Amino acid sequence: MLAVVDAQKIVLEQIRPLPPVSARLDATALGLVLAEDVASDLDMPPFTKAMMDGYAVRAADLPHGTGELAVVDEITAGRAPSRAIGPGQAARIMTGAPLPEAADAVVMVERSRLLDGGRVRIEDADVRPGANVLPRGREMRRGEVVLKAGTRLRPQEFGLLATVGRAETRVHPAPRVAILATGDELVEPSARPGISQIRNGNGPMLLAQAARAGALARSLGIAADRLDALHERISDGLRDDVLILAGGVSAGKLDLVPQALTDLAVQTLFHKVRMKPGKPLLFGIQPRADSDGPPRLVFGLPGNPVSALVCFELFVRPALRALMALPPGPRFVQASLSEDFENRTDRPTYRPARLSASGTGWRVQPVPWFGSPDLRGVTDANAFVVLPEGEHHHRAGEVFSVLCVEDAD
Ligand code: AMP
Ligand code: MG
Repeated sequence: MLAVVDAQKIVLEQIRPLPPVSARLDATALGLVLAEDVASDLDMPPFTKAMMDGYAVRAADLPHGTGELAVVDEITAGRAPSRAIGPGQAARIMTGAPLPEAADAVVMVERSRLLDGGRVRIEDADVRPGANVLPRGREMRRGEVVLKAGTRLRPQEFGLLATVGRAETRVHPAPRVAILATGDELVEPSARPGISQIRNGNGPMLLAQAARAGALARSLGIAADRLDALHERISDGLRDDVLILAGGVSAGKLDLVPQALTDLAVQTLFHKVRMKPGKPLLFGIQPRADSDGPPRLVFGLPGNPVSALVCFELFVRPALRALMALPPGPRFVQASLSEDFENRTDRPTYRPARLSASGTGWRVQPVPWFGSPDLRGVTDANAFVVLPEGEHHHRAGEVFSVLCVEDAD
């Protein structure tokens, strides 16, 4: 059976970033990756400006930082100076305002005392040329590339793009994801399950995981375990970049998802991975005739909730990130076991655990959990510790790889 790393390789080999689109600087662009170099359309600052509230002066007038000057102008931010200052003159100036011609330093207001007759006394000020002055173009020059293709848009990049006049930029878009839960036993979360029925927990869970990964996810609801029902919903889902199914990929009589996918020209690249939980995982692609983008990706996750959760983090999230031109991950840290732990398993196991930082590095401890249906147990976890196959008495201090799915404590 295929090892996890080999299966991950097969998934990522199919992916290239989604073709660029235009995006505005709103919340939907946050976290996306630039698909072009961005150059500034102006010098920044565009004029030489004051960095302090105080007086614009000619440094040569105050050789020892002390003296008296005539105040001939007042310049606030957003206003232009009305005149140059001459020898022995100063202009009252506020932070962000343009320096008047001939001024080459700003004296902070705390070093000044206003006298009668429109004069000001400066004492003990730092008035080297350039003091408290931000020269034009200090931050960037017109035409200079300030953000490179491949940069992820964080709040500071938003601010910079706005500064250089780029209210719209080219980015790799967030993937569109469709999520379909399958199973005759499933009812909507708002319904009261009848005997032998359960609520669809996987749909909302996977929707949240996709959203957390930065994708635009929609729910296709629930499909019954019948080929006609599956064909209809899968066809709908195949309009998106990624289709995630949950349930119906194991070896049961009504596990019809593999057949339904084949019927719809989805090419299965693997089915079953050597891991626990999550063994029945299926991955397929459907090439796109209509664009130069990557093929549509199809993940058939096992129906047990924790299997679906772990498979998403190990395979789907990296795929979504690669479509967005982000480093795919998943992220692992090395952590030492807090307390002895006995475990017996026939496949490498991703066991719900609590990861925390300590003075000496990462620590990890499995949380109480009885297996792949136990989603409740996972609410106490923030990570998955990777345990080897076989029968082991793991000792406190032993070091394990831990799959990080969120911020640790
Ligand atoms: P399957 O992979 O279809 O064989 O389902 C495996 C187990 O997961 C069964 O016990 C299902 O009832 C359960 N299951 C399947 N789909 C869901 C779902 N959407 N929400 C919660 N449990 C599910
Ligand atoms: Mg089923």
